[in-house]
Amino acid sequence: MSTVLEVNGIQKTYGAIEALRGISLQVEEGEMFGLLGPNGAGKTTLLSILACLLDPTSGSARLFGRPLDRRDHTLRPLIGLATQDLALYEELTARENLAFFGKLYGQRGKELQTRVDEILEFTALRDRADDRVGTFSGGMKRRLNLGVAVVHRPRLLFLDEPTTGVDPQSRHHLFEEIRSLNASGTTVVYTSHYMEEVQSLCPRIAIVDHGRVIASDQRENLLRLLPGSLTVRVNGPTATLAERLGKLEGVKVVSSEGDALRLSSTDVKATTLRLIAILRELDIELLDLESSEPNLEQVFLHLTNAAVRDT
Ligand code: ATP
Repeated sequence: MSTVLEVNGIQKTYGAIEALRGISLQVEEGEMFGLLGPNGAGKTTLLSILACLLDPTSGSARLFGRPLDRRDHTLRPLIGLATQDLALYEELTARENLAFFGKLYGQRGKELQTRVDEILEFTALRDRADDRVGTFSGGMKRRLNLGVAVVHRPRLLFLDEPTTGVDPQSRHHLFEEIRSLNASGTTVVYTSHYMEEVQSLCPRIAIVDHGRVIASDQRENLLRLLPGSLTVRVNGPTATLAERLGKLEGVKVVSSEGDALRLSSTDVKATTLRLIAILRELDIELLDLESSEPNLEQVFLHLTNAAVRDT
């Protein structure tokens, strides 16, 4: 695996506003990397810099091993950007939009026509290919916006809030398209403030807040930053069970009342398996078991609260 994107201490100021305060991260070839942050965190600014549209105030980056430089025109064809604000011409048809952007990347004639047809198929817009984009629904525009970003087959694709304003069905369709692009080898950097989107799509995630990366790790490791919980009810006293469970690594007995025990655990799945084994060993009947694992939203709130306290 090779590194396709390496970002080192990128800062960007707009007058008195510090939009980016030293962002560093690395993305490997073939990854679907999530950049999660609330509105105003700096995601669009960062993507604009990495897509060679904006100069950073300081810091540097390497794309495909080459220094990021807006004036290096050989980098542009390697990158695709689906912008948050739709980059489409409403008065042109879907086909004309795709052909226009394809031509910008030097595609012509049969090659261009074939590629436009491929994208229309891929985005499920073939039936509406010759209709003006101004007549499209929000979901169709988002799909075409993605299509336009990949018409030149970029190796690295930046997606800036790609599901803005779409209904669940179109969102599902977009996810399928993005997953299929990634499966066919395109490295994807997916930015969103929708925690559940990033959690379901991206195996590795950087959480950005106030222009800083406040955490960056594999999704599972981020989710392990907070404990999950288990509530168990058994037929009989809980004292011995509580004692055994309390000795497990990462497990705390939060409360013990009558036949119910509440536990916190840094690994809910592993604790559930151990719990079942201990119940069997002690010959205790299980009446009820409920568990919940932390989600990215809780981790995000936990980390951002911590960040506020630290400053
Ligand atoms: P959103 O999801 O709302 O677009 P974001 O994470 O993409 O948020 P940015 O759009 O990059 O965040 O904005 C980061 C900060 O920089 C914000 O405080 C924003 O107001 C500011 N900002 C962005 N672009 C400009 C600009 N051209 N001039 C002045 N300030 C700007």
